[in-house]
Amino acid sequence: MNKIYNDSFLRALVVLILACLIMTGCGPTKKHIAIGTGGITGVYYPVGGAISKLINEKSSSHNIKASYESTGGSVFNVNAVLNGDLDFGVVQSDRQYQAYNGLSEWEKKGAQSNLRAIFALHSEAVTLIAAAQSGVEKVKDLKNRRVNIGNPGSGQRQNSIDALKDSGLELDDIQTEEVKASEAPGLLQDGRIDAFFYTVGHPSGAIKEATSGVKAVRLIPIEISEELLSNNPYYTRVKIPLSYYPKISHPTNVVETFGVKATLVTSESMSEKVVYELVKVVMENLENFKKSHPSLYNLTPQNMLEGLSAPLHKGALKYYQEKGLK
Ligand code: GLU
Repeated sequence: MNKIYNDSFLRALVVLILACLIMTGCGPTKKHIAIGTGGITGVYYPVGGAISKLINEKSSSHNIKASYESTGGSVFNVNAVLNGDLDFGVVQSDRQYQAYNGLSEWEKKGAQSNLRAIFALHSEAVTLIAAAQSGVEKVKDLKNRRVNIGNPGSGQRQNSIDALKDSGLELDDIQTEEVKASEAPGLLQDGRIDAFFYTVGHPSGAIKEATSGVKAVRLIPIEISEELLSNNPYYTRVKIPLSYYPKISHPTNVVETFGVKATLVTSESMSEKVVYELVKVVMENLENFKKSHPSLYNLTPQNMLEGLSAPLHKGALKYYQEKGLK
């Protein structure tokens, strides 16, 4: 090979590599991403499905394919995203806060400083549902009852404990079950539990299932103290509209309780380009995305940036800065 040929070959190679990097953002792009959701009768599952669908519809433009899977919920998703088993996870805002700050389930492991926020999604209500014949009308009445507080990987487990504590009950005061939310409606209808907690957006398949059986059930209001609100910045008062559950008989149109937001998270090590494309596809198709589930109706680009406590992933920040949202 002569020198001139060699030089021009090298130059062409450099140009090719640069063009490649410019076209694909920087660095190698991951082609397939997995999103962790929750139980199939929750809201995370269809929302994860809607995000995946948007990504896959535009996959010819960004070269990314997405899939979503049912998981045990928020706590499982945080851990799976951080240990690389999942790329993205839907996670309650309180769990995002606790993981990033090393609280609750992460107290022993310490602050999960690699956790990164992408955007917030729908509101979730701490939902308590009880068999009408159990006579349960408020949280205090759960004393000595069989209550599903949520599986260990779920977001709701800590919310159940907080709600019980706020009403003066400890876990020892009730007969606890810790099964997945997808199993709880069946157990309630079979009379094997008296009540269950589920932190979920509305309407949800699980609550529809629980309210559609032969056994009459009630949604129980959760009156929380000012102290609970001021000690836990992620909790707010929320109302569950009962119009979503026509089979439930209730004297009011709404049930008051407290709630959090669902959020999407990833790990700091996730590719900037992948996160940028995910945010872009959701934000640029927001009207379509909102139509994919009733709990998403109120989303706006502004409220999707509220309720996040881990730092924004750099790919998300890049998009928000370009659009003047940050
Ligand atoms: N909030 C629940 C959890 O974090 C999941 C709710 C859902 O799947 O919609 O475990």
